[in-house]
Amino acid sequence: KVVLCWFRRDLRLHDHAALYHALRSGLPVVPVFVFDTHILRDLEDKADRRLQFIHDALIRMQQELQAAGSTLHVFHGTPEEAFQAWVSHYDIAAVYTNHDYEPYARQRDTAVAKQLGEQNIAFHTYKDQVIFDKGEVVKDNGEPYTVFTPYSRKWKSRLDGFQLKSYLVEKYKQHFHRQPPIPIPTLREIGFEPTERNFPPDDPEDALIRHYDQTRDFPAQQGTSRLSVHLRFGTVSIRQLAAKARQLNETFLNELIWREFYQMILWHFPHVVGESFKKEYDRIQWRNHEKEFERWCAGNTGYPIVDAGMRELKATGFMHNRVRMIAASFLTKHLLIDWRWGEAYFAKKLLDYDLASNNGGWQWAAGSGCDAAPYFRVFNPTLQTQRFDKDMAYIRKWVPEVDELTYPAPMVVHEVARKRALEVYGKALKK
Ligand code: FAD
Repeated sequence: KVVLCWFRRDLRLHDHAALYHALRSGLPVVPVFVFDTHILRDLEDKADRRLQFIHDALIRMQQELQAAGSTLHVFHGTPEEAFQAWVSHYDIAAVYTNHDYEPYARQRDTAVAKQLGEQNIAFHTYKDQVIFDKGEVVKDNGEPYTVFTPYSRKWKSRLDGFQLKSYLVEKYKQHFHRQPPIPIPTLREIGFEPTERNFPPDDPEDALIRHYDQTRDFPAQQGTSRLSVHLRFGTVSIRQLAAKARQLNETFLNELIWREFYQMILWHFPHVVGESFKKEYDRIQWRNHEKEFERWCAGNTGYPIVDAGMRELKATGFMHNRVRMIAASFLTKHLLIDWRWGEAYFAKKLLDYDLASNNGGWQWAAGSGCDAAPYFRVFNPTLQTQRFDKDMAYIRKWVPEVDELTYPAPMVVHEVARKRALEVYGKALKK
């Protein structure tokens, strides 16, 4: 008999809740992963860098497991097919995995638990990718928070050493199931192309975190951690990172709490996928002008800070947070294009794409989200540039022709667009 440890968005072999519990179960552990065709079929870009990132992480895990005489078992297909195959291949007592809070994941896990249950195989799940989940940080009356500041206050008041303790997986490495290596399918075998690799490192310097509050708003600087892709795929541990944040910088810790806030919102209010958190915002008469949307995507709006961000995103899969806010505000307020269009475009392009944070960020910018910017606050891209990129170093990097005649004039005049946004929003919200 063996147990399986099913990896999903937790692609590491250290400080891992499900793996720890599996290794302590007393039965040999087979680590498994599914290249889930339900997810892969929605990815349009066959050279999607996220697949390369995942593949690299699996290869690293495979090397570590081989050193322990074991192997990762990777399946390409649906989770249902994967478990059918594994059930006929191994004598399985239980499957261990970590919680996943997205609607698709919840439905997938319910189906897998049922499929396994029919064969008397237990399905154990654990909290791993956040410090607090589900109903752990709620108001005194048990309701979920919808405003960040009181949520973060409660979050911090509940934090003690216990939640930050690492799961010492290393101690139990001899409990992996011993078997010869099973090759991981190549990217081509699962229908994708290899891509370039310049992914950010997973261990930013302490000095960067220590000064984070002073540097984080300036896109020309390397002033943020670039850990988002690692947090997304679990190649770093949130416990180790939060412990570091608590020591080094309160503002940085707050950003990690924003991440949990949006995950918690998605858990309690799954309607935010596809609908405004505040329902009345779905009455807004978006203009949804397709040509204007294309100019925004391509980074040709004539607003250099917006264009720099959109070009950075297209070229690298990353955009600085300050610029994400400006670009999202520009799309929803200046162009009056439905936040869902912007959300979907970011979802395709962002290396760190995460349903909860992306949806939260977009609804924040559009004003439709919980604890969002008030709708009448319309970012002025020119003033934002003066504050956060005053030497235009970031802009010049991505829009080198900014001072030349070939660079387009602003596609809308800020004041005109601002008035129009206030009218259209005002009309929808007054009803
Ligand atoms: P740092 O500034 O170093 O922050 C550290 C970590 O804290 C980040 O890696 C991230 O996990 C978390 N974090 C920071 N800011 C936020 C925030 N506002 N909301 C939630 N978590 C945060 N973040 C994603 O991880 N995936 C997304 O798909 C995503 N989409 C966004 C869309 C919009 C419109 C906006 C305004 C923000 C979005 N963010 C998203 C949040 C934020 O922009 C990124 O997390 C951040 O830019 C990543 O860079 P970093 O790792 O250097 O962050």
